Amino acid sequence: MPEGDVVWRTAQRLHRALAGREVLSCDLRWPSLATADLSGRRVLEVVSAGKHLLTRLGAADGEPALTLHSHLRMEGSWYVERTGSNGRGRRSASGVRAVLTTPEWTAVGHELGMLDLVPTAAEAGLVGHLGPDLLGPGWDAAEARRRLLAVPQRHLGEALLDQRVLAGVGTFYMAEACFLAGVSPWTPVGELPSPDRLLTLLHRLLHANKDRTGQVTTGDLRRGRQNFVHARSGLPCLRCGGTVRVAPIGPAPRDRTAFYCPRCQPGPAPTDDGRPQQPLGAAPRPRPGAARASRRHTGVMRDGPR
Ligand SMILES: [Zn+2]
Repeated sequence: MPEGDVVWRTAQRLHRALAGREVLSCDLRWPSLATADLSGRRVLEVVSAGKHLLTRLGAADGEPALTLHSHLRMEGSWYVERTGSNGRGRRSASGVRAVLTTPEWTAVGHELGMLDLVPTAAEAGLVGHLGPDLLGPGWDAAEARRRLLAVPQRHLGEALLDQRVLAGVGTFYMAEACFLAGVSPWTPVGELPSPDRLLTLLHRLLHANKDRTGQVTTGDLRRGRQNFVHARSGLPCLRCGGTVRVAPIGPAPRDRTAFYCPRCQPGPAPTDDGRPQQPLGAAPRPRPGAARASRRHTGVMRDGPR
């Protein structure tokens, strides 16, 4: 899933292509927006708010300024192509959800997870719940810390993934920041030795990656060595050589995956059967229902990792 840095970069790309230009035509392939017409409006700016994208359009014909809100969720993306070309964004026409055409550039939203059109004055109804944005101009570390520690017994990994706590973190940055901080994702936030250090790490990681394609947390750009634990279950930890493991975190059915190194990240860890784990994607697909059933045996062990 695209995280804050990817969404920030998408907003920059859309902004460069669209800002200041008039929409010649628009095609929103979304049930609630099928009749919406943005043509004649000028794009003012495109910004990100955590993992949300806000395309702001000027007022027109006495109607207020509008914001086209989108979220990439799992598979979404925006392409920019020269108007009149039949670029990459159109190749899978069935996945196209939005097309905004300006005289020079056309933006094509593909497999978007959310699409809304609201008066700009009402944006807060869509993004007002978000915590401080790690890549936003008004990043507020003190407020992020307050929200992070609000429920002391909450697992760290679960809290970091909650966009109401801070905006922009997904499973990649959650896992990598917990690794770099040397804490288990299952640590209750009230027992976190240094919340400020963790927030600083996250802020630094997202800023370091926002201007480049690819996510690097090790400082090593070589393939397979770019990050420490995320999507590396079953492989040796780049720091200690122990086996990286993965387990669900957060309450089902909204649980997510947390990758971690039990040796480098002491603290509470899920109980499991201790079997060697294959790298994610290397194992045969489980039978329907098997994965959910096995999770029933996954609890949290308070006396340290195995
Ligand atoms: Zn390790």
